[in-house]
Amino acid sequence: MVKHQALVIGAGPAGLCGAIAMAENGVDVLVVDEGLEPGGQLPKQTHKFFGHEGFFASLRGFEIGKILIERARKNGVKLLLKTTVAGIYEDAIVLYNRELEKTQELKVDYILIATGASEKFISFKKNYLPGIYGAGAVQTLMNQYRTLPGKNFIIIGAGNIGLILGYQLLQAGANVKAIIEASSKVGGYAVHANKIKRMGVPIILNHTIVEAIGEEKVNGAIIAKVDASFKPIPGTEREFVVDTICLAVGLQPNVELAAQIGARIEYVPKLGGYVPYRDENMKTSLENVYIAGDLASIEEATTAMIEGYIAGYNIAQKITGKDFSEQITKMKRELVEFRKGPFSQKVREGLKHFNISFSEGGYRTKIQNNEEPVGKLRVKIECPQNIPCNPCETSCPTGAITVGENINGIPHVDYDKCIGCGICVTKCPGLAIFLIQEFEKSSIVGIPYEFELPDENEKVILLDKNGNEIGYGKVEKIVKNNRFHTHIVFLNIPKGFENDVRHFKKIVKNYEEIICRCESITRKEIEDAIEEGFTDFEELRRYLRISMGPCGGRVCRLQTLSIISEKTGIPISELDSGRYRPPSIPLSFKAILNGEDDKNE
Ligand code: SF4
Ligand code: SF4
Repeated sequence: MVKHQALVIGAGPAGLCGAIAMAENGVDVLVVDEGLEPGGQLPKQTHKFFGHEGFFASLRGFEIGKILIERARKNGVKLLLKTTVAGIYEDAIVLYNRELEKTQELKVDYILIATGASEKFISFKKNYLPGIYGAGAVQTLMNQYRTLPGKNFIIIGAGNIGLILGYQLLQAGANVKAIIEASSKVGGYAVHANKIKRMGVPIILNHTIVEAIGEEKVNGAIIAKVDASFKPIPGTEREFVVDTICLAVGLQPNVELAAQIGARIEYVPKLGGYVPYRDENMKTSLENVYIAGDLASIEEATTAMIEGYIAGYNIAQKITGKDFSEQITKMKRELVEFRKGPFSQKVREGLKHFNISFSEGGYRTKIQNNEEPVGKLRVKIECPQNIPCNPCETSCPTGAITVGENINGIPHVDYDKCIGCGICVTKCPGLAIFLIQEFEKSSIVGIPYEFELPDENEKVILLDKNGNEIGYGKVEKIVKNNRFHTHIVFLNIPKGFENDVRHFKKIVKNYEEIICRCESITRKEIEDAIEEGFTDFEELRRYLRISMGPCGGRVCRLQTLSIISEKTGIPISELDSGRYRPPSIPLSFKAILNGEDDKNE
């Protein structure tokens, strides 16, 4: 039988941090995880994390995973992957290695259980059809196995997981038709929701899914409005044509092993459902068993890491007999700071069940509204909620941004200090910071951008905060950031739209496209003619015979004006729409020859 001083079950952020805290202090620790690679959910997270830099804010989940794994290995943590804890008995722990198809017995003095959480599911008609996935499964397929399970998606749940999944799907080139949320407000961070909305994805509140459409597989979804008790209201159904339905309706702690070992389990919905009892040091009702992370309460990765450290230092203290109270106090202070904000309210209340109290408040709530120095290149911060995050503050080289005393404070900017360097724009995990500057005839907006880059000087369609097209602009300059992979695309836009333009899309050119069907004139011919200098509808009519066919311009007039607007930047409303000549319908010569004058005239 193999013997170790400590066993950590689960190699996610909580488990790895716990193992690091122990191994750094000389504890012989083994980490067991059933996954193919360590890191828990981290390897499939391609977005930047919130928090502060001490806990890797602004790095992407998979990067954080790599750092923690390297740290753990460097400190001598032993990692056993593809291995499940099959049973915990009084005299031994039985591991099952799936790859080698064998069991192994283990004896340890202390156990840290960090088994995380699993996805919740909801019931609706035909929820058995292929094409219905949990959000985590889609992230695994997409971000780890580079496979998109469908083309057209609908996401159920607008918490952070649903919102992040929506953004990642858009980055992968999928079409996200909508995000559906049963409650009356978005549950996740507003900055996550804003990233999705400005790309044109609607977030439909007060609705739920009632049925998946299809026989062999999903080919649609029916949603309906819900009443105050979240029951679908008959007659409010709407249909979406999709091939994939993603459920992001919450997580529940994986308590099975903790329960099996005999730890006290209680039902505390505000912590996520059934959870093991734990004290402030993350110790369960059993003397040598600790927990951390989502198993203890459904929260963010930062708090999972902190809890892992608290548990790890406590176990190390018991095993080595050394005093780690300084490290433990430091981590507890971090937890207090993080949990002061409104997004921790549920957890704060849930923890009262175990007589653990966390204070709230003490952070800045006021949204900045002082006058901006028009004409100066400066940042525009659109981060209106109290979330535990501060890379904007810590990355600014001039100290222009502050979030105040507590990390949950709303960021403010000192415009006198801002030099427009853009560092904060590339670091902000919420992509909530923009750069703006007004000039005499036009303005510049710098957009944080994580998609395939356009070309400099390319003409693009400007989108507002809700993804509505509001005109055309030009890519003035691109500042690439190959470290954080958030680039800044500077757009030249019409003056007065600095506070509206928040995204853009490329103009898709289809040279097979026929604009004037009567005369078979293509988009390319029209674009070429405009480039030659025929920028007026009447000029194009004479040059290309546009609108001279039987329809008299009914099909092509507006399309042609839109292309002129696109190419010249002049709004359609300011263009001359051309003359409307008779006859309004095609007449044969015979009809004209056979015509009779009105004898009365
Ligand atoms: S643009 Fe530069 S100077 Fe201005 S707030 Fe951001 S980091 Fe600071
Ligand atoms: S603006 Fe600051 S607080 Fe808000 S998401 Fe960005 S970095 Fe975090």
